[in-house]
Amino acid sequence: MLIVKKFGGSSVADKERIFNVARRVSEDYKAGHDVVVVLSAMGKTTDGLIAQAKDINPKASKRELDMLLTCGEQISVTLMSMALESLGIPAVSLNAWQVPMRTTSNYGSARLKKIDCDRIKAELEHRKIVVVTGFQGINKYDDYTTLGRGGSDTTAVALAAVLHADACEIYTDVEGVYTADPRVVPHARKLKEITYDEMLELATLGAKVLHNRSVELAKKYGVQLVVRSSLNMAEGTIVKEDAKMEKMLVSGVACDKKAARIAVIGVKDEPGIAFKLFNMIAKHNINIDNIVQSVGREGTKDISFTINEDDTDDVLRVIDDNNGGIGYHKLDVARDVAKVSIVGAGIMSSPGVASRMFEALFDAGINIKMIFTSEIRISVLINEKYADKAVNAIHDAFGLAD
Ligand code: ADP
Ligand code: ASP
Ligand code: MG
Repeated sequence: MLIVKKFGGSSVADKERIFNVARRVSEDYKAGHDVVVVLSAMGKTTDGLIAQAKDINPKASKRELDMLLTCGEQISVTLMSMALESLGIPAVSLNAWQVPMRTTSNYGSARLKKIDCDRIKAELEHRKIVVVTGFQGINKYDDYTTLGRGGSDTTAVALAAVLHADACEIYTDVEGVYTADPRVVPHARKLKEITYDEMLELATLGAKVLHNRSVELAKKYGVQLVVRSSLNMAEGTIVKEDAKMEKMLVSGVACDKKAARIAVIGVKDEPGIAFKLFNMIAKHNINIDNIVQSVGREGTKDISFTINEDDTDDVLRVIDDNNGGIGYHKLDVARDVAKVSIVGAGIMSSPGVASRMFEALFDAGINIKMIFTSEIRISVLINEKYADKAVNAIHDAFGLAD
């Protein structure tokens, strides 16, 4: 059997945790399996590197930032390989160059394009545990790229797909996927199974237990995932196509505190304005989340949208530089907002779900700034300081607890 096992930052945070993982993977190895291990950087290493970069140059280029961030994963894979060697298990660490793993060219949010498996297969044939850096790739300029925060999950799923692995296991610091972040809602319930589609929504809406691209890839290539704890043997959550969901209307509540809202107020009410605005933002490779256009005054309209908080300055600069193109009256920015969402396959077909969510927020005294809906989710934008309270209130209102 070929198993891909991915361990997140907290699972390899220090020497003791590294040996815990080393022992765990060596059990599979000793049972005769081929084992590929994908690692994140140790503990909060990536945050530390970002802070160091910002300290030197707050406007550092994304190219240099990626070059720096890839160091984190290189430390953890080499130390893991050394830990395995010390236990008498043959192992080899490989970075994105050595595999190699090719990505698109955009630094900071690159997508994996092509993984060459020959080196990994050769090492497995020599009966080595192969320890691969998560989160990184190389682009057409032969530069390092990163896949976006939390991207090691995506490396693991991509490797499982190209290697036709028999299992892909994602080990983290909680026991699986819950109805809400168990650190925010202590009585959240662990799900036995969840579908790719629901997991994808939850991950995209802020449940960082899985990188959303990893779920997208898992669905595309039919890679069944298990999410479980690296610290105990508890059964985790299976992510797959047709989950036998306990017929739940709402399967989870997610929260994204890294949202920001920009309102472009008083743009001309004429054709092409939205196109010009979002085209110039897209040209800078910035993702827009939700868009709402509303009626303004005196032949004008307002366009509001949400983005990742980290992109705020870039978006403001782009709009400011191009004011002539769309001619707005005012830009309004809110960084202290959070997006709280419910996800569930049955939402569209069940009247009353939205009102139950809004009632929970009303009862908790929380004002809603924006509302977005899709077939399987309802999201609201609220003040960030009420985010945890909102998640708990909504979780309770839908009776999701154990
Ligand atoms: P890793 O370093 O292992 O990749 P992450 O910090 O990226 O771990 O993801 C795990 C964290 O995701 C958990 O510690 C938990 O706080 C958070 N989380 C958010 N939503 C959920 C959810 N619905 N189920 C489980 N964990 C969640
Ligand atoms: N080390 C990277 C991060 O902190 C990637 C990951 O953890 O998956 O975002
Ligand atoms: Mg993660």
